[in-house]
Amino acid sequence: MPSILEFFRNLPKKKCMNCGSQIDEKADCYGNLCDECDHPAR
Ligand SMILES: [Zn+2]
Repeated sequence: MPSILEFFRNLPKKKCMNCGSQIDEKADCYGNLCDECDHPAR
């Protein structure tokens, strides 16, 4: 029986839905935007 840790390890990395760059796991409030696209000044 695979452990829950293995399950999460096999999940694909998040990608920014705007520019498609990979998103590092940080906070849930980031949604699907990377730092660049989530920046309010942009
Ligand atoms: Zn982006």
